[in-house]
Amino acid sequence: MFLCIATWSRRIAGAAFAAAVLCLVAASGAAAQTLTVVATTSMIADAARQVGGDRVAVTALMGPGVDPHSYRQTRSDIVAMTQADLVLWHGLYLEAQLEEFMLELARRMPVVAVGEAVPVDRRLAHDSYENRYDPHVWMDPNLWPHVVEAVRDALTEADAAGAEVYAANAEAHLAGIAELADYGREVLASVPEDRRVLVTAHDAFRYFGRAYGFEVLGIQGISTESEAGLRRIEELVDALVSRDVGAVFIESSVSDRNIRALIEGAEAEGHQVAVGAELFSDAMGEPGTYEGTYIGMIDHNITAIARALGGTAPADGLHGRLASGT
Ligand SMILES: [Zn+2]
Repeated sequence: MFLCIATWSRRIAGAAFAAAVLCLVAASGAAAQTLTVVATTSMIADAARQVGGDRVAVTALMGPGVDPHSYRQTRSDIVAMTQADLVLWHGLYLEAQLEEFMLELARRMPVVAVGEAVPVDRRLAHDSYENRYDPHVWMDPNLWPHVVEAVRDALTEADAAGAEVYAANAEAHLAGIAELADYGREVLASVPEDRRVLVTAHDAFRYFGRAYGFEVLGIQGISTESEAGLRRIEELVDALVSRDVGAVFIESSVSDRNIRALIEGAEAEGHQVAVGAELFSDAMGEPGTYEGTYIGMIDHNITAIARALGGTAPADGLHGRLASGT
């Protein structure tokens, strides 16, 4: 402001208006505070970036390949969260090791469990805890809009002046997600019915299976914290052989050890199984890439699953942007 006044005083009348406009721009730039948001998973961070646009600065605690079931907060995470204007986490017992900390933090500052915006009657039950639900709701692009709307509402609550921007950005993002859901319906319907079996490292794909009519078999349960027993591997080897399943999938955030054991087990019985692709289960791809966005992540999964199981989908996906060309 001091600079503005100095500039103003040196201007003659003809140039005064331009100087005044510059001053206003500088003043409004300084006044528009950026909302600092910390999100636990990369999927929630993406929703906050899509909806928040330039008004928010978003930090994700968990990067590519990080498993939220076993993640524990670091000292720098705690600093980032306590200094943020808003903390977004998933809830539904996804971040099992963070839950206690988050509930405590929520007593002191705005903390919202956006995954819990998915209505109870659309949730799937948890396999190991009564009264808890399967948290992997992002796998169904028909459910994720509930979370995007919860992110929009949380941003609006924290920054009412941005309400219109958040509403418009959310609407545009939701349209993109609806397009993705339609793409999924179309290409996954091309997978022959008897091949709609999805075998993965852990049970992250039950919402996906429900949405698109796939049977889902995970080696580990809903949480990666549960150990897969030898018996479970044997059961799945039997299923692969008897149902002639040709491809299984590894996950970006889970070790592929069990999947390899499955393939070897099937081979020992004379049945060849291929690795269909690496799927993004509980974390997105690298920041700055298409797969490092929610839409890119799910596009990758849908496209890879359809192609590996005998369906028809363009190798570069819905928008021609998939780098891997699955
Ligand atoms: Zn998971």
